[in-house]
Amino acid sequence: MPLTNDPKIIGDEYDIIIVGGGSSGCVLAGMLSEAARHEGRRLSILLIESGRDNHNDPNVVRPGRYWANLNPNLGYFNNIKGNLDHCGREIEVAVPNILGGGGSVNFMMYTRASASDFDDWRTEGWYAEDLVPILRKLENYQFTRDSNPDQSVHGFSGPFAVSHGPNFREQIDPNAGEVYHAAQKLGYPIVADMQNMRNGVGFSEWPKWIDPVTGHRQDPAHRYIHPNISEHTNNGLTVLCEHKVVRVIIKEGRATGVEIAYSHTTSVTEPIKVKTTDANAPSHPAVSSSVQEIRARSMVVLTAGTANTPQLLERSGIGSSEILLKANVECLVDLPGVGENLQDHLAGSQYFYRFDKDTLPHYNDYLGGDPAAMLEADEEFKQGKGPHSMNFIGGAGRIRPTEEELQEMGPAFRNLWNAYYLNAPDKALFINCFLERPMNDPQWTFLTPEYSYKIIIPYTLYPVSRGSIHITSSSINALPEFRPQYLLDPRDLPPHVLAYKHQREFVRRMPSFRGEVREFHPPFSEASAARCIEYPTAEQRVEIANSKVVYTGEDNKVIEEWVKANFFAVWHWLGTAAMRPRAQGGVVDENLNVYGVQGLKVADLSICPENVGANTYSTALLLGGKAAEIVAKELGLGMSDTSYNNRVLN
Ligand SMILES: Cc1cc2nc3c(=O)[nH]c(=O)nc-3n(C[C@H](O)[C@H](O)[C@H](O)COP(=O)(O)OP(=O)(O)OC[C@H]3O[C@@H](n4cnc5c(N)ncnc54)[C@H](O)[C@@H]3O)c2cc1C
Repeated sequence: MPLTNDPKIIGDEYDIIIVGGGSSGCVLAGMLSEAARHEGRRLSILLIESGRDNHNDPNVVRPGRYWANLNPNLGYFNNIKGNLDHCGREIEVAVPNILGGGGSVNFMMYTRASASDFDDWRTEGWYAEDLVPILRKLENYQFTRDSNPDQSVHGFSGPFAVSHGPNFREQIDPNAGEVYHAAQKLGYPIVADMQNMRNGVGFSEWPKWIDPVTGHRQDPAHRYIHPNISEHTNNGLTVLCEHKVVRVIIKEGRATGVEIAYSHTTSVTEPIKVKTTDANAPSHPAVSSSVQEIRARSMVVLTAGTANTPQLLERSGIGSSEILLKANVECLVDLPGVGENLQDHLAGSQYFYRFDKDTLPHYNDYLGGDPAAMLEADEEFKQGKGPHSMNFIGGAGRIRPTEEELQEMGPAFRNLWNAYYLNAPDKALFINCFLERPMNDPQWTFLTPEYSYKIIIPYTLYPVSRGSIHITSSSINALPEFRPQYLLDPRDLPPHVLAYKHQREFVRRMPSFRGEVREFHPPFSEASAARCIEYPTAEQRVEIANSKVVYTGEDNKVIEEWVKANFFAVWHWLGTAAMRPRAQGGVVDENLNVYGVQGLKVADLSICPENVGANTYSTALLLGGKAAEIVAKELGLGMSDTSYNNRVLN
């Protein structure tokens, strides 16, 4: 049985154990398995995933369900909370908990890191020129808006389809059309390919990790795991779901296996349980106290994600000796960098706008879960079309500030700009993302059916503040201490103030714009020129040319406080087991080996030493691919001839 949730029927020893069947873990397991099969060698791999199987789960396969899946009671996530005392609030972050990880539940926005992001890591084998071939191998770029795709950065026969989705194959998405109009009014270039790793500025339609024909989400388990565990393809790959690895077993300085425990996953039919923030209370869902050991002949690779990989290391005795002492865990390797250096991308807020319903189509009924709209969507999806096959994200832009804007942002940010961004024209300061979301919150009585509502989410790409996540006890059921520290460094605020102003000017120039929903904007005084505007009718709308809102010092303070109270992290966290020299707080070396232990690697986003200026799915897949190359080389397996295509995809 290659995929099971019953540990009694799996073996007790494997060549390689991979911990965490998320974006990186699935690619790593699938690629290695394919490489071994291609060479006629048998390689036994056990992939252990704490969440349930995602095979043909309609909420995973149908892209349009992603908003609904954020409901914590559906069991796709384990949420964790952290204090933001400097902002007077706490923040909750959703941690994926399903086979496929973030790739099963993300928003499917195709975005790639800038070339300079990788070059900045200054690590042998990890420069952009080393990594682009892997990115190309992974993707099947079918974004036909880009009529002359750059073959040097895109791939056309990989397992992950990238497209505009089936609905807008021929005509331009009306949402994106309006975005283009506004971008041109503001003097921004419209670019065919914003994801060529070189464009720091520009607007385009947003490519998606969606198949252009079937309309299916391109998650890593359907691309790399399910095709490799069928009767005909299986070559020693076993997947164990609904089990958590409690810790890695380390004997005489070598990782020899793992301890696993049953991890109960909530199903849709189970009653809602109240979550608790009491650090001593068990987390939900609870993990069984009875554990089982499985041995690894060659190595253990951790791919449990930015939140969980450092906790696994710490429970295994690898981390800061002080933290381990407090948690009552024997320290085997003193590595103070474990769990530190946590970074994410931060969205100022979701800013709501009203549009002409007749001009700009909307999917309120579908997104609100209306049963008739669902039935219709089910029918359309049989042809790979309709709202199930969409992610409702039309256009987007990558923005760098003008000289005038830089002056407004103050001297501290200016110094940062000069040191970090100025000579890296491929780095944007923030991304403006224009999308649609469910509007049926009963508290939002101010949203009326005469309009179509859209939101714009600007998110900054390279925040300076660094947070941490650490265990508080040796028990896997104890909540971690999550200290995100977002916006702690004062240089992180000016980009959000600018992003707010920018997205507002932008939306005001969209042809069907009718007004700003004041409940989702900073509370400017009524006397301020910055107050929200609304046009009662289409005829009364005034075309805005060059004039921009002029903000007073008081208005800027109002924006800052609003940002602090409302910002959220966009699930792109990374950095908690950084690939750096050990003396600089590093946790892994350039071959992903954990310092001080033999046979233990980390291969998920936690290894990124610095941020990437993009949504992170592409980078997570890349890390799985890069890890596969490293491991294959160590095992004497060739990767280059591996067939990435022509597989039966389940
Ligand atoms: C809601 C959301 C929306 C997003 N939208 C986008 C987007 O539109 N575009 C984009 O590019 N990126 C997006 N991302 C980000 C992207 O999906 C993630 O960065 C990426 O999936 C991270 O990959 P990973 O392999 O590091 O971790 P994950 O994919 O999170 O994988 C970690 C896996 O390990 C498992 N695990 C954890 N602990 C254990 C344990 N102890 N034992 C066994 N298994 C364990 C988890 O269940 C999980 O499956 C989004 C993420 C989220 C959550």
